[in-house]
Amino acid sequence: MHEMSICESIVNVIEEQAAAQGFGRVRRVRLEIGPLAGVETEALRFSFDVVTRGSLAEGAALEIIETPVTGWCMPCGQPVAVRERFDACPECGSYQVQITGGEELRIKDLEVD
Ligand SMILES: [Zn+2]
Repeated sequence: MHEMSICESIVNVIEEQAAAQGFGRVRRVRLEIGPLAGVETEALRFSFDVVTRGSLAEGAALEIIETPVTGWCMPCGQPVAVRERFDACPECGSYQVQITGGEELRIKDLEVD
């Protein structure tokens, strides 16, 4: 499962941070995930519980913040609100919209002991 390897890399990052900053326990992990990141949040939650078992993030709460999809319309020369990739610009109907946000998958912050 794709989400399993995402969680493994999250745990790796947490362990690196723990070594660098000297914390021993993680209470909460906040992730920012865009709708275009291709991640199933339910599968991610399940994988997180499995992968963190026995790590310093065991039992940590997983908070998922969904970021908006944003685009840049080239004919309009301005940022526009789109819902997904290949959506037309709501202002001019052009398909020359570059996706500028919504693909992120990152750790926003950690709450640690
Ligand atoms: Zn436009």
